[in-house]
Amino acid sequence: MPQLDDLCSLIASCKMCGLHYFRKNAVCGKGPANAKYMIIGEAPGFQEDEVGAPFIGRSGKLIDSILSELGISRDSIYITNAVRCRPSMNKTPSVKEIKTCSDYLKEEISIVAPRVIIPMGNVALKSLGYVFGKKFPKVSEITGKVILVNRYYVYPQFHPAAILRNPKKNVYFSEGLKMVFTSDSEKLLAEGSVISL
Ligand code: SF4
Repeated sequence: MPQLDDLCSLIASCKMCGLHYFRKNAVCGKGPANAKYMIIGEAPGFQEDEVGAPFIGRSGKLIDSILSELGISRDSIYITNAVRCRPSMNKTPSVKEIKTCSDYLKEEISIVAPRVIIPMGNVALKSLGYVFGKKFPKVSEITGKVILVNRYYVYPQFHPAAILRNPKKNVYFSEGLKMVFTSDSEKLLAEGSVISL
């Protein structure tokens, strides 16, 4: 994956926004360069910053448990973040930080060319908006809908951290991921049950 490796080298030394002051490690995306699915989170947390890998804390474990129930390996999915450096005190990244870092997401999407993109949370959706030059509604308004943007199927979900704070939403989160990662999603996509943006 030389292209992704090159991109990761750029990210590791990036100082394009003020978040580089707080990071221990900039966190690159991880997964196959030809993955069918791409999950986009918000930003690294404490553990991700320590280790330099995406979604390895509690949010990642929630995703892993759902994938495991479905018999899907995390290694078959490309997992990344909208913002690559941990914001101080885990604050929500600013609009400027999201916009600046979206250049890397744009490049990743172009290299991996996933069929289905799953942005988790509003920060991921905002970043995707910069990538595609679109304005997405809030995740609470479109979670569970399949949106056709250019040639990509975008399937917004709540961020797993929000699910951990409010476990009542877990059934929608689990069912949503199940739908998109199983044969039902193929049927849904094939039948064109999508909205265009
Ligand atoms: S958050 Fe993104 S744009 Fe900002 S310094 Fe880190 S890699 Fe660069």
